[in-house]
Amino acid sequence: MALGTAIRSAEVLVTSPDRNFVTLRVTTEDGVIGLGDATLNGRELAVVSYLRDHVAPLLIGRDAHRVEDTWQLLYRGAYWRRGPVTMSAIAAVDMALWDVKARLAGMPLYQLLGGASRTGALAYGHASGRDLPEVFDSVRRHLEEGYRAIRVQTAVPGITALYGVPAPSGSGTVRYEPAQRAPLPVEEDWDTRAYLRHVPGVFEAVRAEFGPELPLLHDGHHRMTPIQAARLGKDLEPYDLFWLEDCTPAENQEGLRLVRQHTTTPLAIGEVLNSVWDYQTLVREQLIDYVRSSVTHAGGITGLRRILDFAAQHQIKSGIHGPSDVSPVGMAAALHLDLAIHNFGIQEHMPHGRLTHEVFRTSATFSGGLLHPGDAPGLGVEYDDAAADAHPYQPAYLPFSRLQDGTVHDW
Ligand SMILES: [Mg+2]
Repeated sequence: MALGTAIRSAEVLVTSPDRNFVTLRVTTEDGVIGLGDATLNGRELAVVSYLRDHVAPLLIGRDAHRVEDTWQLLYRGAYWRRGPVTMSAIAAVDMALWDVKARLAGMPLYQLLGGASRTGALAYGHASGRDLPEVFDSVRRHLEEGYRAIRVQTAVPGITALYGVPAPSGSGTVRYEPAQRAPLPVEEDWDTRAYLRHVPGVFEAVRAEFGPELPLLHDGHHRMTPIQAARLGKDLEPYDLFWLEDCTPAENQEGLRLVRQHTTTPLAIGEVLNSVWDYQTLVREQLIDYVRSSVTHAGGITGLRRILDFAAQHQIKSGIHGPSDVSPVGMAAALHLDLAIHNFGIQEHMPHGRLTHEVFRTSATFSGGLLHPGDAPGLGVEYDDAAADAHPYQPAYLPFSRLQDGTVHDW
């Protein structure tokens, strides 16, 4: 090993500019820096401890070039495998080491992953509204911002607070942020029958308003049983969705067989899945069309590429998770993969706020509906310590749901 590429320090950085982010910063003896995203929304400090107390000591003195060996050491060497905390920690190390390697090579990371397979990554934005006029306004605003594919979420009569729809704020331009800064999670309500009755009519209206060409997406957020999801997929077929996402909880992989038997609406799943083992039935039986895992929660570039290569053999494409809780570092990693892989499908894009961009200075761009990671060496993200230190960690949680009779439901 060249002495200069040995890891000198591995720092775990926590900041809360617009929301909480956990970042791993690896520095080599020669002073080359690599960044990795370790943000696990609502459970951030568990990954901080995993990295700081159990992973960082293993990294000191290791050759930063040994990306695969380090991944295997952290995955197999812990004995306890998989799970979001472990796989987010491994992801942060993996991203940071790829960042170091690409900076040393003087190339943007996508060049090391095989080079660009396309000019940019088609991105979809999140439109939503409490009623049809608000939904139409939101779709129009996204079109004006340049989006060429749009996810549509809508309020449902009879449900007070719903995933994907911002609470009334008086401003038409508010961005949806599900994690709330509070000492305890917020409670929302849910009624599957009301949802199933309402959603098809919204898509009928949106299709009629915006025409047949615009790719439209919808997220069911794990709330239906397989037979309910099958019905929704069938009811949405006339409106030609790009995908129906998370129609049923993903850990029941066999449940997707029932959905698939009944509908040709394309299916996307996997944002809560974190290893290739979570996709065995889904991919082998072609029960889905898009893989939704994030780089941050699925073992990094090495882990997600393993899933996407497996998916490619079954004509399944990528739809990498990109909510606001994936930091600009995690988003950069996603964009380098998006550019390089052959089986790219689409990239989720939930823009970060101004304060977040002051902490994470990114070379990524959005133009003509396409995201691009930029051509700075490495991931293309610099971390500003002074800006970060002005925003200490604040407890924040994702909400949870209850049915009318008080039963906890999937959020
Ligand atoms: Mg989702």
